[in-house]
Amino acid sequence: MHNGFAAPVTVVGLGPMGYALAEAFLAAGHPTTVWNRSAHKADPLVAEGAVRAATAAEALAASDLAVVCVADYAAMHAALDHCGTALSGKVLVNLCSGTPQEAREALTWATAHGAGYLDGAIMVPVEVIGTPSSVVFYSGAREPFDAHRNTLDALGGVPRYLGGDAGLAVLHNTALLGLMWATVNGFLHAAALVESGGVGVADFAETAVDWFLPSVTGEILRAEAARIDREEFPGDGGTLAMCLTAIEHIVRTSRDAGISDEVPSQLKALGDRAVAAGYGDENYMSLIKVLRVPSAATHR
Ligand code: NAP
Repeated sequence: MHNGFAAPVTVVGLGPMGYALAEAFLAAGHPTTVWNRSAHKADPLVAEGAVRAATAAEALAASDLAVVCVADYAAMHAALDHCGTALSGKVLVNLCSGTPQEAREALTWATAHGAGYLDGAIMVPVEVIGTPSSVVFYSGAREPFDAHRNTLDALGGVPRYLGGDAGLAVLHNTALLGLMWATVNGFLHAAALVESGGVGVADFAETAVDWFLPSVTGEILRAEAARIDREEFPGDGGTLAMCLTAIEHIVRTSRDAGISDEVPSQLKALGDRAVAAGYGDENYMSLIKVLRVPSAATHR
């Protein structure tokens, strides 16, 4: 819901997350222009009132603010590098996964094209976008954050500004996702162990959540555990392949920081085996299928 003037906004990228962002802006009453490399993904949004731009440059021209949510920084550059003067005078808010160094380079790139730039990181799944539980981090120049705060409020929760270094949002994102996936992997290993004793994963989740896990992670794992018991691993909300790209960013961020990359590299190695086994288009929980069998059977 909104009161008074709702500023126009452009969304570049309509994967599961970009789509959810566009829906949230529409729901809050913002005139919303969308562009995606594969144009057909905008069809349902157009039916809800969004305007489909024919090109990325046309999409940028439609609003002062463009929220970019594509796979990674390389995809952002593939989508926008050729836009030239269409970038001038605009504010880009880039919410893709990457490394702090890529975020800082993106700030330099945007500034060279005359655009304001705010980097950001989405910390919740698609279904939480637009709700009070939503969490999105931002970093970079304060001015564009303050200027567009009312529009960013449509994504839900309380937008959190972390500071002037454009890399800070992605730094927090990689740190917290590393923590999250290490926890999830610990849970999946524990689930595979209790399964071997004939215990259902949903039953085990009740014990594990009460005993150990913080409530937010716990609620997600509860819901996912029931789907694991049913052997359901739908990738429509985000795929294992998408998560692996983000894990790769944790590995690279750790190397860039001069610290050990062993923990995220182990996550990556496990994920790579799951992709090799054909689970890349399923959701992250499909990793349990790799963990259910002896290591030697799936090491390549
Ligand atoms: P994704 O699979 O990571 O990205 C898909 C989007 O990237 C599509 O719009 C795709 O266009 C576009 N894309 C990829 N390569 C491109 C290129 N070379 N040129 C132009 N566009 C390109 O899907 P997602 O789940 O929506 O994630 C988007 C970002 O949000 C990622 O950085 C992800 O880490 C972050 N995120 C996602 C979630 C989630 O739960 N889904 C949660 C938090 C953060 P096409 O449609 O044409 O392929």
